[in-house]
Amino acid sequence: MTTPDAKRHMPYPLEELIAELRELLGERGVSVELAARERASVDGSRLSPVISAQLPLGLADVVAYPTSADEIAVVVGAASRLGVPITPRGKGTGNYGQAIPFTGGLVLDMTKARAVVSVGDGELTAEAGATMVSLEQAANKADQQILMYPSTAQSSLGGFLAGGSGGTGSIKHGSNHQGFVKALDIVHADGTGEIVHVEGDEAQKYVHNYGTAGIIVRATIALEQLQDWRGFFASFDSFEQLLPLMRAFGELDPLPRLTSGDLSTLADALPDDPAIPAGRASLRAILDVSTVDAATALVEAAGGRVEDVREGPQTSMKISMMSYNHPIEWLQKAYPDTYFHVEVSGDPLIDRIDEVHAVYPGGMLHIETAHGRPIGMLAGRYSSPEEVFAGFDRLAELGVGYHNPHQWFVDFEPARTRELARTTDPNGLLNPGKLVDATLATGAKVS
Ligand SMILES: Cc1cc2nc3c(=O)[nH]c(=O)nc-3n(C[C@H](O)[C@H](O)[C@H](O)COP(=O)(O)OP(=O)(O)OC[C@H]3O[C@@H](n4cnc5c(N)ncnc54)[C@H](O)[C@@H]3O)c2cc1C
Repeated sequence: MTTPDAKRHMPYPLEELIAELRELLGERGVSVELAARERASVDGSRLSPVISAQLPLGLADVVAYPTSADEIAVVVGAASRLGVPITPRGKGTGNYGQAIPFTGGLVLDMTKARAVVSVGDGELTAEAGATMVSLEQAANKADQQILMYPSTAQSSLGGFLAGGSGGTGSIKHGSNHQGFVKALDIVHADGTGEIVHVEGDEAQKYVHNYGTAGIIVRATIALEQLQDWRGFFASFDSFEQLLPLMRAFGELDPLPRLTSGDLSTLADALPDDPAIPAGRASLRAILDVSTVDAATALVEAAGGRVEDVREGPQTSMKISMMSYNHPIEWLQKAYPDTYFHVEVSGDPLIDRIDEVHAVYPGGMLHIETAHGRPIGMLAGRYSSPEEVFAGFDRLAELGVGYHNPHQWFVDFEPARTRELARTTDPNGLLNPGKLVDATLATGAKVS
C-alpha cells in the first residue's frame, strides 16, 4: 500500500491564518484545541483494516466552523491566499480516509453551514453542511422526495456529493453523478474567495473527487414526486432462495426505492428486530405501496415468508441505515478485528454466488440493486493487505466488477479532475494527497 505521498506545504503562515479566521468567524468559529483537531482528522476509514493499520494519517493544525456558504467562501479565500492546505469536511463518515488532512493545515468543517435555501418544483437548494435526512424531510413537506441518499443518512450534502456515490434510490437513479446534481456553487483555491456557479455537465466535474477541484458551498439537487412507501421485511431458510428475488424485485413497477439482502450471519449482526429473525437470510425493501401484494407473492413463491410491512418515513430510514456499508459495520461490531470488505457488482453476484463467496475465506455477500445491476459488499476474514488485493484478480476472472475501498486516491475520472484542478487549485492546496498520478493508485479500479 502506498502511504500518503503529499508533501507538507510548510512553512505556511499559520498564525496569520488563525488570526484572520478569528476575525472572520469569531472565537467560536475557529479551534486549535488538540481534541478538536483530532476529531476533525478522522473519518469512517476504520471500516478498512488496511487503512486502520496506518492511522493516524494526518492531524489538522486548525479547524474552522463557518456557518454559511458565504463564510465557507471567505475562509477558503483566506487559506488559499496564504498557501495553507485545506481539507474539506462534512460529517466525516467517508470510508476511504478521504477526509483525513494528510498534510495538516486547515480542516474546514462545514456542518454548521446547513440551511435549506429553497424547495421548488423538481429541485432543492441547500448549503453544503445540510444533512441528507434534512433534505428528504424538506422535500417531503413539498410532496416530493430526493432521488437518493446514502445509508449514512445523517451525513452532509457536500460530503455525499464529493465523497459518496449512491444509496437508497440508486436502484432507479444510479450514482450521484448521473443527474442527481443540477447546479453547484463552488469556491476555488485561487485566493479570491469568490463563489462560482456551475450547472449541468460543468457541475458533474466536481462530483466524487473529494473536493480536490473545488469546495462545494451550496448545491441544487433534483427532486421527484413523493411516493407512498412501505418498509417490507421477508426472511428465508437460505440465501440462495433470496438471491433471485433481487432481480424479480427490480422488475416491480414502480421500482422499489431499495432492496437489501443478507445471508444469516450478516443478518444476525444487524440491530435486533423481530422482522429479522435469527438464523435466517433477510430481505429488506422499501416498496411503493401498490407493489406490496406482488412482492409478497414473489417471496412466498420462493419459499420465504413476509415478516412485516410497515408504514412511515422512519421505517424507510431504518431500512436505509441497514443497507450498503452498514451490514459490514454491524458485522465488524459483532466480530471485532475479523472482517474486511470489497465493493462488488455484476450478475455473478447472483449467478455464481458460491464462487464469489469462495474468493475470500469466510466470504459473505451483502447484496443491493443499482440501476438494474446487482451490487454489494463482499466481506471476508482479514489476514493481510496482500490477501485482500490478491482476491481482486479472482473477482475479475469471475466477471465481478470491484472497487477497492482500502485506498484514498481519487479514482473516478482522475484525469478530468487533474485537468480542472490545474486552474481551480493551482498550488495543490485542496485535500492534498488524494489526487495523485493514477499509476500510484495501487489496486484501484472503478467498476
Ligand atoms: C457504515 C458506512 C456506510 C456508508 N454508506 C454509504 C452509502 O450508502 N452510499 C455512499 O455513497 N456512501 C456511503 N458511505 C460513505 C459516506 O458515509 C458517505 O459518502 C457520506 O455521504 C459522506 O458524507 P460526509 O458528510 O460524512 O462526508 P465526509 O466524510 O466529511 O467527506 C467525504 C469527502 O468529501 C469531501 N468533502 C466534504 N464536504 C465537502 C464539500 N462541501 N466540498 C467538497 N468536498 C467535500 C471530504 O474532504 C472527503 O473527501 C458509508 C460509510 C460508512 C462508514
